[in-house]
Amino acid sequence: MTIRPILIHPDPRLKKLCEPVATVDADIRRLADDMLATMYDAPGVGLAAPQVGVMRRVFVMDCVKEKDAAPAPMVLINPEITWTSEDLNTYEEGCLSIPEQYAEVTRPAEVRMRWLGLDGQMHEEQFDGLWATCAQHELDHLNGKLFIDYLGPLKRQMITRKMEKLKRERARTAQA
Ligand code: ZN
Repeated sequence: MTIRPILIHPDPRLKKLCEPVATVDADIRRLADDMLATMYDAPGVGLAAPQVGVMRRVFVMDCVKEKDAAPAPMVLINPEITWTSEDLNTYEEGCLSIPEQYAEVTRPAEVRMRWLGLDGQMHEEQFDGLWATCAQHELDHLNGKLFIDYLGPLKRQMITRKMEKLKRERARTAQA
């Protein structure tokens, strides 16, 4: 397993529609393993393939937050929403591609998703709580959408400027 570098917003690859996966092969299994390792290392609760520069419809998540609980890694390939609740939920969201920036986003409180698993089988499950928020946030990544796209233009610009500054600073440190 390899920890892959996470792209930081703004990056054109984070704004693109990702391509479906045709078959679950060795490349996809390696990608999923690397994405889980990268997510746990960060640490984060979700990571989408475009965040590591792979423009395919794959995301991983594990929203178990209790320190001593067993991990529950999930890999969702070609995920689709098949149902959303009318009830909404507001969570303070963050993103590994937008480090240390958080904002409240309102989304359906529960969603049902269908996806292709690493076993090559179709799966369908209903998510609630943080799992529902995370699944929708990650699915958005596969459609080139970030959580800051739900915010007003001023807040979004402010966060984008901070990220541009962060990227300049990181580039300088890398050169030094
Ligand atoms: Zn994200």
